[in-house]
Amino acid sequence: MERTLVFLKPDAVRRALVGDIILRFERKGFSIVGLKMVQLSEEFVRGHYAQHRGKDFYEPLVRYVVSGPVVAMVLEGKNAVSVVRKMMGETFGCDSAPGTIRGDLALSNRFNLIHGSDTVETAEREVRAFFSEDELVRYDEDATRWIYDQSASEPV
Ligand code: UDP
Ligand code: MG
Repeated sequence: MERTLVFLKPDAVRRALVGDIILRFERKGFSIVGLKMVQLSEEFVRGHYAQHRGKDFYEPLVRYVVSGPVVAMVLEGKNAVSVVRKMMGETFGCDSAPGTIRGDLALSNRFNLIHGSDTVETAEREVRAFFSEDELVRYDEDATRWIYDQSASEPV
């Protein structure tokens, strides 16, 4: 089953929205296979956002993400990467549709509460960067029995 890396940014922690956001993923049916609160280092964040180096928002973005602890998690489920991205909404809070995390809870172009991996390849790299193998757990199929039809060769 596909995995994706999510972290709830310092504004989500400070605004006490961690529970609300995790609840959405649990209710959708994702399994949380890794979860921790961590203060990311500036060096780590610069690497994480390397694709944005040189852009006008890169420095303020780094300052924002290191400004306090984040809650990092690995979510597992069918099409996890794209489903989580849809649940997040658009990058800018004011552009995001109601019903999405950013659409319901954010207005800012920067303080947008959440990061989610944007491709399956990125997800694999980001999961490894945030979590060691022994920090990730396995679920038995019983846990997702009523999330998917598991009578076929792969979950439907
Ligand atoms: N960001 C910003 N100004 C911008 C675009 C992005 O401050 O004009 C911040 C915002 O917090 C965003 C992060 O930089 O989440 C990474 O940008 P990206 O385009 O990767 O957006 P995301 O994948 O998070 O939707
Ligand atoms: Mg991105």
